[in-house]
Amino acid sequence: MDIGGSKVALRVELTDGAVREAAFRWTATSRSVDDDVRELRAHVAGVVADQASLQGVGLALPAAVDTDGIVTAWPNRPWWLGLDLRSLLSDLFPVTGARFGDDGDLAAVAETVAIGVRDVVYVGVGTGIGGGIVLDGRSCPGLDRGSCELGHMVVDRSGPPCVCGRRGCLQAEASGPAVLRAAGRALGTEVTYDELVRGWAAGAPWACEAIGHAAAVLATGLVSVAELVRPELLVVGGGFAAELPGFVTAIADRVAELARPGHPTPRVRPAVLGGLSSLHGAVLAARGLV
Ligand SMILES: [Zn+2]
Repeated sequence: MDIGGSKVALRVELTDGAVREAAFRWTATSRSVDDDVRELRAHVAGVVADQASLQGVGLALPAAVDTDGIVTAWPNRPWWLGLDLRSLLSDLFPVTGARFGDDGDLAAVAETVAIGVRDVVYVGVGTGIGGGIVLDGRSCPGLDRGSCELGHMVVDRSGPPCVCGRRGCLQAEASGPAVLRAAGRALGTEVTYDELVRGWAAGAPWACEAIGHAAAVLATGLVSVAELVRPELLVVGGGFAAELPGFVTAIADRVAELARPGHPTPRVRPAVLGGLSSLHGAVLAARGLV
């Protein structure tokens, strides 16, 4: 399962190779863990009639979870704060329990497997910015040690405020909403995502400036991490990036500009699993491969 702030995706892989998929949006009136669990339980029952046959369950989610399995932050579903995730999952899946991980970490592993490489830095650009590092095929720092929060890497100490309370995080500069705000400031009126896509395709200065800034900031963050862990590839995914043609190329151009003598920068490529990389990562977790 990939449990997001606004929707949930489920994927069941059967031993005969068949696949069942389902997805739902949280009911807008859901404002408690009990409401959410009721919805989860119903949709799980819709794809798995008999839990006795389950061999494993994996879960990707954006919430911060401490080493005891307690949810410590989730701005989009704040009523999950303090929830004992392990107990909840034992209750939902009494036969197998469930292995869980940060959606960015699991997406990175899934991309690594899908592309066929072992060392990757992955960034997912959407409503927020998530990411993950995979070294020698293993998630870094490891699912039991907390998530790799690429989006909260500070890239400008005097930058705009981030939802986390700091200033100048990568997410505050280059997430989808951040780019739309920048484009709106340049144009002098609010800009929708579709207008941004059209403006960018037409070469409108207000769109190119906002997207160019995000590409440059993302390149800065990716190159900085690459200096530390020497990945083979930099992979850019997430819904915002997937539907903006030329965005990954713009990031690759900025990354190339940051090469230094004797230290060529790694290649940049778009994610191959698109918006499904976290879900596929959850399946890998269910199989015990993460
Ligand atoms: Zn932040």
